[in-house]
Amino acid sequence: MPKTPLRLILAQPRGFCAGVERAIEIVERALQKYGAPVYVRHEIVHNKFVVDDLRSKGAIFVSELDEVPTGAITVFSAHGVSEKVENEAKLRDLPVIDATCPLVTKVHKEAQRNEAEGKQVILIGHAGHPEVEGTSGRVKGEVLLVSTEEDVSNVQVIDPLKLAYVTQTTLSVDDTSVIIEKLKTRFPAIVGPELRDICYATQNRQNAVRDLAKIVDVLLVIGSVNSSNSNRLRDLGEEMGVASYLINNEHDIRPEWLHHVTTIGITAGASAPEVLTARVIDYLNDQYNVTLETMDGVIERTKFKLPKEVESL
Ligand code: SF4
Repeated sequence: MPKTPLRLILAQPRGFCAGVERAIEIVERALQKYGAPVYVRHEIVHNKFVVDDLRSKGAIFVSELDEVPTGAITVFSAHGVSEKVENEAKLRDLPVIDATCPLVTKVHKEAQRNEAEGKQVILIGHAGHPEVEGTSGRVKGEVLLVSTEEDVSNVQVIDPLKLAYVTQTTLSVDDTSVIIEKLKTRFPAIVGPELRDICYATQNRQNAVRDLAKIVDVLLVIGSVNSSNSNRLRDLGEEMGVASYLINNEHDIRPEWLHHVTTIGITAGASAPEVLTARVIDYLNDQYNVTLETMDGVIERTKFKLPKEVESL
């Protein structure tokens, strides 16, 4: 029986961003330079495939620094850490290589600058996310976390005239716009970054999905369930009225999702490697008569410098 035709359209850009590429390269270079094991505080990036791969090469992932033996090479994940964690590492004299994405560090500095100017900091983000913990732990005073419009209505501030906001880098632009507007309405004196903290990679992937969702029946987002930016891509597809699914890999695809579907859009979160996209395409190619195309979109050329500890091998 001839295979059913299926049009696959890939989002451009998709998958790895410069911060993720740098973080993975740091762990790989650390393993090469110093030998296994290398301890990594928190998942280096939120992707199971990447973490399992690095683990097989000798990385040991820990939740807290007290799980790291004395003197062991320690890598901080791309999401960044609080000052407390940094100080703990210094106190223990751990040889640290910091894989915090430079765009997250920029948000840390912004929060610190605002605090130094006497402003209370409001962070727009999701409770429990390591980036939120890291950013909150970069200022001395209490950071007020808001995730929803309701949070903005309920938040209690010390002085409404001395307020600033920063945001998690991987949120949806639309979500933060609504919250920022609400904050400005309730606290007209609040100040924020001139350009949003949402990073270029998050923004580009969301723009691409918005275009893709206009022309597909189903959207597959490759990414892990704990990946904030992957979840936002899926949400965005849903908001555009397209059935959208977050999948780790081809094994998560359910046949019923594809009934009567002629066009599937595929994207991948900033922490999902291209090899997983290739596997999804192969899987669909086995069952359908696939035509594959990539949407026109931004070609990203951003590259971040490696930390000095692993610059040369
Ligand atoms: Fe950095 Fe943006 Fe990538 Fe996060 S998504 S690691 S902030 S470049």
